Amino acid sequence: MIKSFISKVFGRGAKQAAHPSKPVVYGPDKHHIRKEHISRGARKTCEELQRAGHTAFVVGGAVRDLLLGMRPKDFDVATSAHPDEVRSLFRRSRIIGRRFQIVHVMWGAETVEVSTYRAHFTKEAEEERQDEHGRVLSDNVFGTQAEDAVRRDFTVNALFYDPVKEEVWDFQHGVKDLVARKLVMIGDPATRYREDPVRMLRAARLSAKLGLAIEPRTAAPIRELRHLLENVPQARLFEEILKMLLSGNAVACVQRLRELELHHGLLPLLDDSLEDPATGPFAMAALQATDERLRADKPVSPAFLLAALLWGRVERRWHELEEKGQPSTPSLHSAMHDALDAQRESLAIPRRFDATMKELWLLQPRFLQRGGTRPFRLLEHPRFRAAYDFFELRAQAGNAPLEAAQWWAQFQDASGEARERMLHPDDGTKKKRRRRRGARRREEGGSPEEVAPGADE
Ligand code: ATP
Ligand code: MG
Repeated sequence: MIKSFISKVFGRGAKQAAHPSKPVVYGPDKHHIRKEHISRGARKTCEELQRAGHTAFVVGGAVRDLLLGMRPKDFDVATSAHPDEVRSLFRRSRIIGRRFQIVHVMWGAETVEVSTYRAHFTKEAEEERQDEHGRVLSDNVFGTQAEDAVRRDFTVNALFYDPVKEEVWDFQHGVKDLVARKLVMIGDPATRYREDPVRMLRAARLSAKLGLAIEPRTAAPIRELRHLLENVPQARLFEEILKMLLSGNAVACVQRLRELELHHGLLPLLDDSLEDPATGPFAMAALQATDERLRADKPVSPAFLLAALLWGRVERRWHELEEKGQPSTPSLHSAMHDALDAQRESLAIPRRFDATMKELWLLQPRFLQRGGTRPFRLLEHPRFRAAYDFFELRAQAGNAPLEAAQWWAQFQDASGEARERMLHPDDGTKKKRRRRRGARRREEGGSPEEVAPGADE
């Protein structure tokens, strides 16, 4: 439907054929983006810059999303004005970044990112600006608007929108590719992946998010170059993976990663968590649930999702240690540490997520304990809700007893009396075990109950 809509609107052609330095300009009669679709801040920023004699456009993802009828996450502005000129035009603005300066312009709660047109690096400068793998290390050179289009990754990301004239400016056939529902790399794909290997992950994420096919030429070098992701700083890699997982299209992203064979080795998080027969369906269910929540505009917790993706490893190791004769709770503790350590070797999950993940894991066995006062204590735990959702998803996916999940669903809503009636008999052996566990707990200095609540997500 979207396709036919865009084809209808754009199909009749525009003023001018595309040339690298001359854009095709689509007037307001050729597309459906109106200035009202642009955030107030971005619109005012462009108006103000233009009034001061500069050119200024909304650029990149926002234009692309609007053409596809999607709601953009944010609106970036590109301009001919230099950072200090932008800064002097807006009272509430500040220059950020050292390597390439951009300006943040504040309008109430909205912050608009304004960048000066930037050129792709030149041949001479190429060597000193790349590391031995061809990765661009510095790109602090201003350029023309056409050059700014060329340095972007995909043609559909190189579109500009003028919110004053309501025109779409297209230097790279982005509109044509959008109509054909193709994701096409600007320039030589292999070279562009060498400059910045994260573009391979962006290809997977954007094609999934936008429902675009990755053009064969754009997809072809990925298999051969995927090892270059190893040279990308962990923090940037993690940021990009988190974007995928929290894009609202996590399931589709994972599918694309598999098609491009990008999930192996580099991303064991996705790799073995989804392929494990015992916990794979649970990991997939967690991705699906996250997508659904995001689509319904509900908040999601990255720590919850990461904990779900790592649960397979934790559980496997936990049972291994138990089978070796280690008691259950210490086994779970060791298993958690092992899983986190192993994961950190390949992809650094920032430590700020650790506390929440551990808590979710540690609370899992407690959903099987339904005697005495334990269910009441669990109910009062600050993380009960998240831990219950985790358990429930596991049960739905065949990774925990469904009957127990149903019991908890009832128990939460039941009256005090009904709750008492629901309790399972708490036999003496359990009490004894509990006392022994208590002793062990003191030796180890930790227990499920003692994990700090309310930790960072
Ligand atoms: P979304 O915001 O939906 O995640 P996006 O394409 O807007 O997708 P951003 O990270 O917001 O992604 O980037 C904004 C724009 O900057 C892109 O549309 C693209 O033009 C350019 N860009 C981003 N990352 C790169 C990159 N690695 N190489 C070249 N250009 C890039
Ligand atoms: Mg964006």
